[in-house]
Formats: sequence, C-alpha cells, structure tokens
Amino acid sequence: MAMLALPSDGGAKNGEVLGLKRTLISRRGVHPHEAGGGKRETGTKPIERAARPSVVAIPLTQHIGASCKPLVKPGDKVLLGQKIGEPDGFMSVAVHASVSGVVKGIQPRTLPGGQRADAIVIESDGLDQWDPSLKGADDLRDPAKLIAMIREAGIVGMGGAAFPTHVKLSVPKDRPIDYMILNGAECEPYLSCDHRVMLEETEEALDGLEIAAGIVGAKRKVVGIELNKPDAIEAMRKAAEGKGIEVRALKTKYPQGGERQMIEALTGRQVVSGKLPMDAGCVVINVSTAAAISRAIRKGLPIVERVVTVAGAVKEPKNLRVRIGVDIESVIEQAGGAIEGANKIVLGGPMMGLSGYNPNTPITKCIGGVLVMVDRGKADRPRGNCIRCGKCVAACPAGLMPLDLYALSNKEFYERARDERSLADCIECGCCDYVCPSKLPIVHFIRVAKHAVTRK
Ligand code: SF4
Ligand code: SF4
Repeated sequence: MAMLALPSDGGAKNGEVLGLKRTLISRRGVHPHEAGGGKRETGTKPIERAARPSVVAIPLTQHIGASCKPLVKPGDKVLLGQKIGEPDGFMSVAVHASVSGVVKGIQPRTLPGGQRADAIVIESDGLDQWDPSLKGADDLRDPAKLIAMIREAGIVGMGGAAFPTHVKLSVPKDRPIDYMILNGAECEPYLSCDHRVMLEETEEALDGLEIAAGIVGAKRKVVGIELNKPDAIEAMRKAAEGKGIEVRALKTKYPQGGERQMIEALTGRQVVSGKLPMDAGCVVINVSTAAAISRAIRKGLPIVERVVTVAGAVKEPKNLRVRIGVDIESVIEQAGGAIEGANKIVLGGPMMGLSGYNPNTPITKCIGGVLVMVDRGKADRPRGNCIRCGKCVAACPAGLMPLDLYALSNKEFYERARDERSLADCIECGCCDYVCPSKLPIVHFIRVAKHAVTRK
C-alpha cells in the first residue's frame, strides 16, 4: 500500500489531497502543542513487538466495575490466554494470562491512576504456549452469544475509558441504533497507537466494526478519522470498499475523539445531558477495541497484549506491542530509556492521561501511551486569579462554564456545581486548563467535586 506523507497540520488542504468533499468537526476544543516530532515521530514507524517479558503482573481490575475473582493460586501453571480472573458482576470482564508460566503470587500493584489493586504475578516459562481451549464463534447470528464471548475475552474500551464493551453492546430492544461508529480520531497529542492499528490491522478493525454493528442492529457503519492521518484514511477507505462502511475525515481538533464530539461531528446528533450515545441512536467503539472484537469472535483470542505509544522525552520514540502486565519501566527502557531531565510519566495522552510514577505499575488494557515528560514545575507556571476572560467557556467541548465549576468547587459548593452547572457532563478533556491564561487547575477541582458528590 502506498503511504502518504503526514502533513504538518490537519487543515482542509489535506482533505483536498484525499479528494474528500468536506471535512467534519465537532464544535469547540483546542489545538494542543506537541513538542518535538509529536505524533509524526511514532506514527510513521511500524509497530515493534516488545521483548517477551520474564514476569508479568496482571491486575484483577482493568475495567470500570468490580474486580475479577482470581481463578489461580501460587504455584499453578498457566497457559497463554488462559482465563485467570472471573468477572464479578455485569460491569466486570475476565482477565487472562499474557504469558505461559507459573503463578508466583497475588500481590498489590499501583495501577495507572494511583489506586492499589491485586495483580496475579506470573513468571514466564519462555514458551508462550497458548491455551488450546480458545476457539472462535461457529455462528455469528446470535448476538447474546457474541456479547458473552466479548466479555469472556476481557474486552474493554481500549481508547482509555476501560468501559466493558459487552455492556456498551447490550442495547435494550427499545433503543434502535442507527449508527455504529468506529472511532479512529486519536486526537490526543503524541499518541499514534490507533493510527498504526488502522494501518497494520485494517481488516481486523473493520471486521470488529461489522461484528459490533451486527450485534446492535445498526443501520449504518461509519469510521471517523482525523485528517492528520491521511494514510489511515486511505487504507481504511480502500479496505471498506463494498462493505457498506463510510470512512469520513474529521478536522484535527482536540477532543474530536470524545464520544459525544464524534457523534455530533459524524451525525449532527447531540447526546443531551444525562443521556447515553444509544439514546441518540449511536454506539461508538475505538479501533483497537474493534480489532480485539474481531480476534475474540473469529479466533477466540482474549486481550493479552496491546499497542502502546512510548514517546516524549525518550531516546527512541516508537509504538510497541506490549503484553498486558509488563511494568512501565521496562517499556520505557525498550524505547531507549528516558533522556536526561525527564521527571514525569503520563500514562495515556497528555490531556486526559494519568500522571504519576511507579516503576512497577503494569500496562493495562486501556493504556495506549507511556509519555515521558520534562515537567518544569509550578515555578514556571505562576497561577493567578480568574480574570473572567471566557477562554475556557469558548474551548469547552461540552458547552459548560468551566470557570463556574472551578469557583463552585473551590468553595466546596459541590451540589451547586452538579445541579446548576451540569458537573456530570464534564468529560475531563483538559481543554479549559490548556487555554486558561491564569493557569488555574480547573480539571483538578472538577474531579474533586465529582468525587465529593459521588460520595454523598
Ligand atoms: S480561562 Fe481561566 S481566567 Fe479565563 S474565565 Fe476561564 S477560568 Fe477564568
Ligand atoms: S469543563 Fe470539562 S469538558 Fe469542559 S473543557 Fe473543562 S475538562 Fe473539558
């Protein structure tokens, strides 16, 4: 396949190069700056397979919902892909061994986000022997069986949400779905793992879209990709020919990949406050999630690895195919290690990712990026008072009043933030923080308010 050079930005000119009639965009948002080569640095390189780990720690909590119950104990032999954690409740999904070997113990680990959870530690036998009981579906006509397989394969939103995919696809009969949307926006700076998946796992991603569309009975199948990935648009359009799948270009703007923003950009529909995408007749899945659905249904394969962008202040930025449960320190080492002065690690993208550093933190299913940063600290970012400039309001993709959310949370008027300023509609995208000239930590205070109202 011929590869087009990546453009320097996502202007309409790119659409003309691709012969697209028009570009689509959600309202508001920002254009975050990327230091160095940004996405281009990793998006143009093929995915590399990370070294087989000698040990992995598989967290029993890698999803929104209850932790799994361990199915193994220290000393047990396990096979690659073997289920080692049983889902506990509807919102829970299975977890699987990402190497074959011996269980060394069940030990606490710090997860991305900082919470502690038990993880099953497995020492690899170096053989990668697959569980022979794994097999694909014989029949794709029974949605309930396919949903059960997706849950058993441990599939969650791999774009960062970690929302169980079987829950998303369990659409009640009274909610007709018009659009099954494949989210290839990957709007966060630096990240290019989904970009590479669209280029290298094109057929699997589209197959997953078709399977998901069949499950929910969607009338239309649409792929949304930002214009800064013209080679991915071209590859997906070519592979989608004759399949009744529309591949549409989206202008490059953060957070174009937010579910609500993507739905509005592609369909013109708005998901109103307190409602779900399915209420607007839409279901959205990420491209890596779709590829995982295809592997689960066609081959019975669970999630045991994922593509991770390792970028920022590392010597050799790249996309690595990494086993679940590998510690982030070894992932950074495989990208040449951190450069001098690097002092911060963000898991995910720089806008919505989780910062913090614990060398033992394992890669989980929803971590698409390990970004090493040079944080010059608060001294370089003096914080002022709100000058009511309105920039945060203009940038907020959810149509909120971030300055009011900040002020109410700062005064601990959490219920007022919830009841009068639609606190729950904040997607924590960070656009308000990014544009605020006073460097106010708006998102931090919004998160504090959300936690406070959840506790009551
Ligand atoms: S951008 Fe910052 S200073 Fe401006 S209105 Fe919003 S919170 Fe206030
Ligand atoms: S208030 Fe929430 S949704 Fe709006 S810009 Fe800030 S973080 Fe994003």
